[in-house]
Amino acid sequence: MRAKIVAGNWKMNNDLEESKSLVKKVAKSIKKKSLNNTRVIVAPTFVSLDKVSKIAKETKVEVAAQNMHFEKNGAFTGEVSAEMLKSVGVKIVILGHSERREYFGETDALLAKKVDTALANKMEVIFCFGEVLEDRKSGKHFDVVESQIKNALFHLEAKAWKNIILAYEPVWAIGTGETASPEQAQEMHAFIRKIVAEKYTSEVAEDVSILYGGSVKPANAEEIFSKPDVDGGLIGGAALNKDDFKAIIDAI
Ligand code: PEP
Repeated sequence: MRAKIVAGNWKMNNDLEESKSLVKKVAKSIKKKSLNNTRVIVAPTFVSLDKVSKIAKETKVEVAAQNMHFEKNGAFTGEVSAEMLKSVGVKIVILGHSERREYFGETDALLAKKVDTALANKMEVIFCFGEVLEDRKSGKHFDVVESQIKNALFHLEAKAWKNIILAYEPVWAIGTGETASPEQAQEMHAFIRKIVAEKYTSEVAEDVSILYGGSVKPANAEEIFSKPDVDGGLIGGAALNKDDFKAIIDAI
């Protein structure tokens, strides 16, 4: 059975002390919970990964990186490799976030290489994709999402999908306070599961967790998570506040 997941993307927020403090608070808030099939993940900046990962090791919280380079090492100033992430105990990486695509020019082709490197290193990938507002307005959102998934993931073998988590994040809903309606999220998630089933098998499609991301807050989480193909959320702003993040975990 596919896992339910609440993942907090801290983006470029929280210095080391703030990160340590927040992961401790998140861990404390779920300490007594029986999480069953639910995973709680936080993604701090590179600077804090080592310490946060050490703290999280003793708790129910898992830790992800927000990005990674596809090469092992070398002259790539400012970059971090899969091996480096693993050396500090990090085995999950977010790839393809719309902010990486928009501000750092990450393309589907580049993301395909990063996905391959992460999987070759036995890491799990939280793969983000989603349409911009114009795509939705012009009715191209299904085509855009399909091509993003196809270009970066459909070269993978079926067995590789056990290490893939999908995150549908309509760009117009990220950090804007505007959320896709639960119906819009469900419609897209069902579409994604359908194209994965067509390319692979219904088993692969049924087993992959598909998260929704885009202004998820305590007030709307329960309704969005109640949809059958929404398996949790990738949370930005609300993940920075321990009470909001806890309320979102409660909602799932
Ligand atoms: C995100 O950046 O992945 C995100 C979903 O942000 P927010 O929740 O702030 O919209």
